[in-house]
Amino acid sequence: MKIAILSREPELYSTQRLVKAAEERGHEVEVIDALRCYMNITSNNPHIHYQGRVLDDFDAVIPRIGASITFYGTAILRQFEMMGVYPLNESVAIARSRDKLRSLQLLSRKGIGLPVTGFAHSPDDVDDLLQEVGGAPVVIKLLEGTQGVGVVLAETHSAAQSVIQAFHGLKANILVQEFISEAKGADIRCFVVGGKVIAAMKRQGKEGEFRSNLHQGGSATLVRITPEERATAIRAAKVMGLNVCGVDLLRSNHGPLVMEVNSSPGLEGIETSSGKDVASIIIQFIEKNAKPHNTRTKGK
Ligand code: ADP
Ligand code: GLU
Repeated sequence: MKIAILSREPELYSTQRLVKAAEERGHEVEVIDALRCYMNITSNNPHIHYQGRVLDDFDAVIPRIGASITFYGTAILRQFEMMGVYPLNESVAIARSRDKLRSLQLLSRKGIGLPVTGFAHSPDDVDDLLQEVGGAPVVIKLLEGTQGVGVVLAETHSAAQSVIQAFHGLKANILVQEFISEAKGADIRCFVVGGKVIAAMKRQGKEGEFRSNLHQGGSATLVRITPEERATAIRAAKVMGLNVCGVDLLRSNHGPLVMEVNSSPGLEGIETSSGKDVASIIIQFIEKNAKPHNTRTKGK
């Protein structure tokens, strides 16, 4: 097969591992920078131009679209989909997963356990909203944040009010969420490929840090997940329509709660902690599923 990896970072661990796994399994791979793709979207024969040539012979595309280029990246992926190229994750599903509020609404509609979460536009409604999510302590999150940046723990009502005011002043959209203290600064990342959890790790925040993101100094270790956690991760991936994703769970007193579903989960932490060849499992999934025009949404 001929596989495109849509990534701006050919040197990144995850990109390198996917290239190597695909080559080892006898495929031809090319890393393509979505921002350097251009196209005539009105042509009735959709195609994509890249560095002066036409990209018209790929069988599959692996999107590794960074959060900062979601808009253009998903448009390019959609163009691949319209050309009939098989996407590992579909453009619609990626766009959905990038909006925390929309994701939580979709997961909630299907009855998946979530931390109690509120959203309001007007600062006048803040007191009511805080009460609605059970009062301080609360976690306040920027809707567009990633890697733990823009996630704040407000321990008291007045701290929460100040933080919410500050974010509103910056015209930022935020979520206000019940703080799951019993998770003790840890979360569980379930790596889902094709409806199965193929590896899981526990991420623990560094001393005194409630955020477990590896980018915030957290560490990853192998973990055994419960059947309930496994089932929750699989259901969340299905609701989001993602073939490959990282489902982040908090271990609460009333069972696993989904915090977020990441459509471009990194491979380094999970391969290192689990010892599994996750890249190869992803390539094997593509081998089984990459057929022309095999998408659910065709970009809509
Ligand atoms: P990001 O998308 O930026 O990684 P998250 O929503 O995943 O943001 O939050 C970052 C980290 O903060 C999580 O990995 C988790 O450890 C911690 N955290 C987030 N929400 C809560 C919560 N409601 N209760 C307890 N800890 C939380
Ligand atoms: N039209 C899109 C879809 O078919 C968006 C709806 C949604 O996010 O559930 O999936």
